[in-house]
Amino acid sequence: MHALPGDFSDDETSKEGVELIYRYGAQAFPFTKERLKELEMKDQEKRDRQTLSNLLMNHDRDYLLSHSMPGQVSPSSFKKEGQTLCNAFINHDKDILSVCSMLDQVPIASLIGKTIGLYFCAEGCSPGQIFTPKLISVYKKVKEALFENMGIEDFEIVFISTDHDQTTFDSYSKSLPWPALPFGDPNIKNLTKHFDVRGVPSLVILGPDGKTITKQGRNLINLYQENAYPFTEAKLGVLEKQMDEEAESLPRSVFHKGHRHELTLVSEGTGGGPFVCCNCCEQGSVWAYQCLECGFEIHPRCVDGIAT
Ligand SMILES: [Zn+2]
Ligand SMILES: [Zn+2]
Repeated sequence: MHALPGDFSDDETSKEGVELIYRYGAQAFPFTKERLKELEMKDQEKRDRQTLSNLLMNHDRDYLLSHSMPGQVSPSSFKKEGQTLCNAFINHDKDILSVCSMLDQVPIASLIGKTIGLYFCAEGCSPGQIFTPKLISVYKKVKEALFENMGIEDFEIVFISTDHDQTTFDSYSKSLPWPALPFGDPNIKNLTKHFDVRGVPSLVILGPDGKTITKQGRNLINLYQENAYPFTEAKLGVLEKQMDEEAESLPRSVFHKGHRHELTLVSEGTGGGPFVCCNCCEQGSVWAYQCLECGFEIHPRCVDGIAT
């Protein structure tokens, strides 16, 4: 199809045109402001309709699968057989017991009202191999803190696998302490599209009302670890202020072991911005040490060297 941006008059809107083509593809035709408005309205409606149930459930399934959530076995797994977990134990029903020790069903209804992280990842992805252990540690710390506070708040993560085969999915999901959508489930494709996931790992955070809080969960975990919870604007405002205060005490320039140039402290306002840390390969934003000669950039906490 040969369709050039229609009535975009300035640079700003033609950039939007490019973004439009990227986001909506042929749907964006004929690339006019009216069409953009229409598509944005559709998006807004989609957001308004968004609930945890309609994101994760479908006609055939109202549960997630879990390998390792003892105590959360769904009673529905025993209904068909007229069994309960209790009498399965009493009757030493080996079939049922071995099934539930392998894969438990977690009802999606039990997740409603919690802050939810949708974790898009695949085992073969190498940034995932760095990020996943970090996320597991943050998850455990948040859960522990919430348990101690005995509040009504709760946090859960759902694994949305982009793995290409069942065996990889099985072994990977087994290593995660949170439930997963079944392998190859039709919702996976829909969720990837709905949240415009362009790369993995990606962490989308939903509030207790099922609406999106942020798609930048991974970035926020890297920046603030368990302190990022519950990922709300108010919480992030507090954290940013803290970070700015901490940055005030950082040296303006440093040398980092293994890099021959001097690094300068930058922030979003002074040439910084979102970056990938050359030391730990994770994303960062706001404050960084940057080499003004070659662009090498690292998190302030990743600096290994002597301040000048
Ligand atoms: Zn780093
Ligand atoms: Zn350099």
